[in-house]
Amino acid sequence: MQTQAYRQLDRDHHLHPFTDFKALAEEGSRIVTHAEGVYIHDSEGHRILDAMAGLWCVNLGYGREELVEAATAQLRELPYYNNFFKSTHPPAVKLAEALCRLAPAHMNRVFFTGSGSEANDTVLRMVRRFWALEGKPDKQWIIARENAYHGSTVAGLSLGGMAPMHGQGGPLVPKITHVRQPYWFGEGRPAGQDPGTFGRECAAALEAKILELGEENVAAFIAEPVQGAGGAIIPPESYWPAVKEVLARYDILLVMDEVICGFGRLGEWFGSMHYDLAPDLMPIAKGLSSGYLPIGGVLVGDRVAETLIERGGEFFHGFTYSGHPVCAAVALKNLELMQAEGVVERVRNDIGPYLAERWATLAEHPLVGEVRSLGLIGALELVDPDTGGRFDKSLGAGTLCRDICFELGLVMRSVGDTMIISPPLVISRAEIDELVSLARQALDDTE
Ligand code: PLP
Repeated sequence: MQTQAYRQLDRDHHLHPFTDFKALAEEGSRIVTHAEGVYIHDSEGHRILDAMAGLWCVNLGYGREELVEAATAQLRELPYYNNFFKSTHPPAVKLAEALCRLAPAHMNRVFFTGSGSEANDTVLRMVRRFWALEGKPDKQWIIARENAYHGSTVAGLSLGGMAPMHGQGGPLVPKITHVRQPYWFGEGRPAGQDPGTFGRECAAALEAKILELGEENVAAFIAEPVQGAGGAIIPPESYWPAVKEVLARYDILLVMDEVICGFGRLGEWFGSMHYDLAPDLMPIAKGLSSGYLPIGGVLVGDRVAETLIERGGEFFHGFTYSGHPVCAAVALKNLELMQAEGVVERVRNDIGPYLAERWATLAEHPLVGEVRSLGLIGALELVDPDTGGRFDKSLGAGTLCRDICFELGLVMRSVGDTMIISPPLVISRAEIDELVSLARQALDDTE
């Protein structure tokens, strides 16, 4: 079928996620047809370097035959069975064991879901159930962060702190509130504060919120180690140690959303490990299967697990596709390949530092106000070269730069005027050179 025919069918019948439907109908879609390694290809013959690993998920890159074989073999063996009540199957059990082996030592249980959003719905249910079972039913408030993304289900969007989503979300889940994000650049590099002071101030804002709500009413704090969709926000070094201290002062659960940072993105199996954190719960998804099939879950620490198991009775929660056998088989193979190929160590010791060095060269560009990266996640903050400050929002500099990138053969994401990369973890040095060179050209063309 020809490109134009696909575009017309798309216009006529397909509502895309996070898309202005009308604008898309006017402009038409790019039809992505196939992919290999770190490149996607479209129906018009373009080869595009995917510096977003799809949606932060294709960690092992495209075209891995081993994952195709794992799916095919499992489809033949047992294409579907559920994990409700007293049934299970080998892929779910083996994946659960593998995950708990890779997770921090105090995390020995996993609850499977079909996605990251469902994982965060599960978090909400588990956290409140835990405190009810502990005889503290008032502990219901969950503190999240402004500008956070935790998914698109009602619980996910309520935990998230994105104002435009809240505006469209209908009634949100009660007793969820948001505190300041540790976004030094985005908060305008507050005058007279170095990043360290700013990081501690953000942790102090969390403490102030706990005291305002009353610690006896606060159930949990949820955050990503590095905030992804909000703008690849790497917190100042002072932030997590200070938050850890605050949470230790009050009996409040820590939920680390590892949907993006998990599975090697920051050079450790989980982002929490990079920051030496010991979360009570870790929602996971995306890189778990390198995005080849949809699967998510919540890793559960011993404290919460023991209460739910010993005192909980039936947990009235679960999904038809919780621990789907084919998705679980692919996820298991994905973890095996990552281990066999030393993917996480390579991000930490080799390709992450290489990206940091090459990416930092973009700081010299007049359009760039800040460059940051950690492991294989990175961002550029676009600024008006005349003032050194943010562009006028109405100019849409980020969107323009993103579109130019696409035309040049590079997928970079824009969040406002923040340009983001999160490439497949298997990206080579030569491909990073290409990525940086295309990004530089896109900046030149945006000017
Ligand atoms: N949590 C975080 C941090 C995410 O980035 C996302 C998706 O981007 C989600 C949760 C939701 O995951 P899903 O899209 O699989 O529902």
